[in-house]
Amino acid sequence: MTNTLLPTSIVGSLPKPSWLARPEVLWSPWELEGATLAEGKHDALRAAVHEQSRRGIDIVSDGEQTRQHFVTTFIEHLDGVDFENRETVRIRDRYDASVPTVVGAVSRRRPVFVDDAAFLRRQTDQPIKWALPGPMTMIDTLSDRHYRSREKLAWEFAIILNQEARELEAAGVDIIQFDEPAFNVFFDEMKDWGIAALERAAEGLRAETVVHICYGYGIEANNAWKATLGSEWRQYEESFPLLQRSTIDVVSLESHHSHVPLDLIELIRGKKVMLGAIDVAGHDVETPEEVADTLRRALEFVDADKLIPSTNCGMAPLPRQVAFDKLSALAAGTGIVRAELAGSAVATVR
Ligand SMILES: [Zn+2]
Repeated sequence: MTNTLLPTSIVGSLPKPSWLARPEVLWSPWELEGATLAEGKHDALRAAVHEQSRRGIDIVSDGEQTRQHFVTTFIEHLDGVDFENRETVRIRDRYDASVPTVVGAVSRRRPVFVDDAAFLRRQTDQPIKWALPGPMTMIDTLSDRHYRSREKLAWEFAIILNQEARELEAAGVDIIQFDEPAFNVFFDEMKDWGIAALERAAEGLRAETVVHICYGYGIEANNAWKATLGSEWRQYEESFPLLQRSTIDVVSLESHHSHVPLDLIELIRGKKVMLGAIDVAGHDVETPEEVADTLRRALEFVDADKLIPSTNCGMAPLPRQVAFDKLSALAAGTGIVRAELAGSAVATVR
């Protein structure tokens, strides 16, 4: 994928420019329409690539500039889901949301993100990563009147995700990420069929595969939920042993400013670790030294050649300048640790 030691990456989203969508809100409506919207999305994607490159991000993403939401936009492109027919459900047991209804067999009539990924590919020679929602997180944002089985619906989505992922790979995507925050909530289902559905979504890919599991964006409902989790967040303890034995190559987790005990990383020993060294809930920009400190502590539990410094989650809800400055902090902090590792390698040789 890349020979850089400690290649930096972001989890997914970046704030969109205010001329494209209203800033600092989720599901923010587009400010443009028709051909102008299509052109605006591409210009925003170009800007996202430019900012990542110039601020030292090694694995480049689209910043999710062409999608309104990391789950909803994918589902909107599928048959079998009625967006007019909405019901209120609990999302991840945390907050109520009005969601679309599954009314028939789900299928993907045409590729969803493949043209956007090909466009991203043309913008940079750096390795590129594309994020898709995971099957279990997808079913959790829907009301199902057709399959009436969360497992069955997740399996159908896994098959669809696999079709999309194979075409993303053919379009030149180096790393394909599945976002599964639901793995931090529905432990029984995750063990019974969630991991299997994720592996089905990733089946047969040559691209490197990532699963991103987090505690959510820094929005109020998530922050209130986090406040109930106590001083030690051990949710990863449920998924990590299973992921360690899974076919997925990389596990993306949050760490900086979170209450996740770092020694839990030991449970995925052997896998690559995309470590959240940037908090996405606060507007304070980390110092390079803070980032370096988080990475140093993680290196007790992950080999340096398997560590990918990253953000805790997507940055869509942040002010744009804050998000960009956090990219710079991530790269600068990583630079400190790279230099230390290079120094100790020289010392060992001597
Ligand atoms: Zn996340």
